[in-house]
Formats: sequence, structure tokens, C-alpha cells
Amino acid sequence: MSNCYLCCCQITEDNKSAEHIVSNALGGNKKSYDLLCRKCNNATGVLEDELCKPLMFFISALKVRRERGKIPNFSASTGSGKKVYIKSGFQVSKATEFKKINESEFILSAPDIEAARKNLVKLKERYPNIDIEKILADAQEKDEYLDDVIHFSCTLNDQAQRAIAKIILNYALYEKIEINNMKEYVDYINGIGNNNFLEMYNGRTPYFFNDDIISVVSIIGSQKEGKIIGYLQLFNIYKFYIVLNDCYQGEDFNSPYFFFTDGCIDDILTNIKVFEEDICVIWNTDNLKRDINKVIRKIRERQIENERNRIISKVFEKMKIKFPQEEYPYFTKEMINYLSNEVAVGLTKFMIHLRGKRNSTLR
Ligand SMILES: [Zn+2]
Repeated sequence: MSNCYLCCCQITEDNKSAEHIVSNALGGNKKSYDLLCRKCNNATGVLEDELCKPLMFFISALKVRRERGKIPNFSASTGSGKKVYIKSGFQVSKATEFKKINESEFILSAPDIEAARKNLVKLKERYPNIDIEKILADAQEKDEYLDDVIHFSCTLNDQAQRAIAKIILNYALYEKIEINNMKEYVDYINGIGNNNFLEMYNGRTPYFFNDDIISVVSIIGSQKEGKIIGYLQLFNIYKFYIVLNDCYQGEDFNSPYFFFTDGCIDDILTNIKVFEEDICVIWNTDNLKRDINKVIRKIRERQIENERNRIISKVFEKMKIKFPQEEYPYFTKEMINYLSNEVAVGLTKFMIHLRGKRNSTLR
């Protein structure tokens, strides 16, 4: 049995706990029972929550896979101050609106049918006469595109930065790396010390494949630098490192743990040389913009593809109802006309929306 690295107590059968090396919300599923006692594991959970909050845009848009449960919905506000809900896959929907016209009439608009039902159930407590199923059957579904910007904050606060230090240390200890200034790092994670060691990295990523978006934590042993470095990259944008050992004399090594990629892990290429070259790059906002825009472009391409597929499959669903198979066992001319018309209308509406948004990049 080992000791908890944050409080030094012995880890026993009674206080052991499964510590995710990287939070599952970020895609991590590697666990260890030898790192933290249950008390420290619970106490530091809030750090990971604070790290995930500003990353929700990426977590949702890229549908980062979880072991259990779904990616939570979250709310955001638009440029014109409206509240919207963001569902997994970065599907934006309007917040629920309720408008009373008079004693017997009201207008309810909800992001989807389940939300509408929930609201109606609540309303029924006050108005027992309403017929929920009839209202839902008569409800009109409306597809709309958001012609507005959505604001986010991507700032990593102190707790989020402590979570980053913790991920790097978790992985380094998991990989049994000899660490120099353990006390300094532990104090910082415990909230009693300063952060004089967690460095932001603004250079080129050492792990890449085409434009794939990659999240990785890795340990890099560099003979040239004489150091062992813990490196963390989140969605190609947030990049940090800690020098874990500065008197390393061994050979070069590299042990990455890829916990998120939208491509195939086996395809990822590694070039530690760019990391060694760029480690001294002075902070440069243009580099950050370059990284963010690249990821946003990729997300946008995916959203466009998803939306095209959604439009087409929705038309097929509608067609099944309009032309039931029992009555229409074969494709008729009427069906083909219906299909091509509906798809054309849907796609055109979408293209018009996109055209207006063609130049949306980060400013
Ligand atoms: Zn502990």
C-alpha cells in the first residue's frame, strides 16, 4: 500500500478511492487506487469542476465521451442578452418561455417535447383541466437558426490551474517518475502555496495528426534539455507543462496518454523536437488565436455535416408518416418529388444561414 500524495496518510482498504488520472468529463478513464485517499479525492473534485466549466464549449461541441451519464446541458447568453440552452453536440435551443394571454389561454415554447411536457405537468398543478397529451399532439415544431453570437468565458481561474497541476502530477506518479520539488507542487494543489512552476506553453503541439483535435497528458524525458517534463494539452488550445526533474541525464523518452481525440489514436504522430524548440517561445496571442481558430473551424465543419444529415433524416422520418409503407410499398413519383423538395428547402434554409456566418472567427 502507498501513501496519499496530498496528505501523506497511508492508503488503506478503508480509505482508498479510485482517482481518475484525468477527469472523466474531459474524456479520461484511466484510474488509480494508489494516488489519493478518499478525503483528498473528494476535496479536490471541485478543482476539476472549475477546470471543466470554461471548457464546456469544447466538451459539448466535441461530444467528449463519459463513462456514465450524458454531457450536461448548460446555459449561455447571446449577444443580445437572450438566454439559451446548449445541449450535447453544441445544439443551441431557446430557453422555455411562458406567456399568459388570458385566464384560459397561454403560449408555451420549450426547447423540445420533453421539456414542454415537464412544464405542462407543472402547469397542471395550477390548471387541473389542461389536457397534456392533446396539447403536445397539437404542438407545432419549429426549426430555427440562431442569428446571434454566444458569449463564453474561457478563462482558467486559480482552481482550474490547480486542477491542471494535479492532472500532470497524477500522471507522473502513475508513471512512477522521480519528481524534484514535490512539496511545492503539493502545497499549491492543496491551496497553501504559490504557483511558480506551472508554465503555459504557446508553441506547436508535439502530438498531431492532420487537424485532429487532441487532448493528452504526457511525460517527456529530454536529454537535450536535461529535464523530465510533464505536459498537458487540452483540445489543442490549452497547453501547460511542469519541469518535474531538472537533472535528468538519461535517454529521450515520451509516454503520452491520449484521453481525447476526434480521430484515431493510432494515427497520432509525435515530434518531441518541436516541443524542445518551442519551449522558449514567448507568450504570443497570435499563436493562441491560430490554435483556437483551427479548432473552431474543425468544430464548425462537423456541425455543418451533422446538420446536413439531420435535415435529410428528418425528411425521411416525415415521409414515413406521410407515405406509410403499407399503402406505398414502392417509391412513387409523388414520393420522390416530396423528398427532393423537402430536402432542398431544408438545405437552402441552412445554406442561407451559413452564408451570413461565413466569416465567423475569433476576434
Ligand atoms: Zn489524502
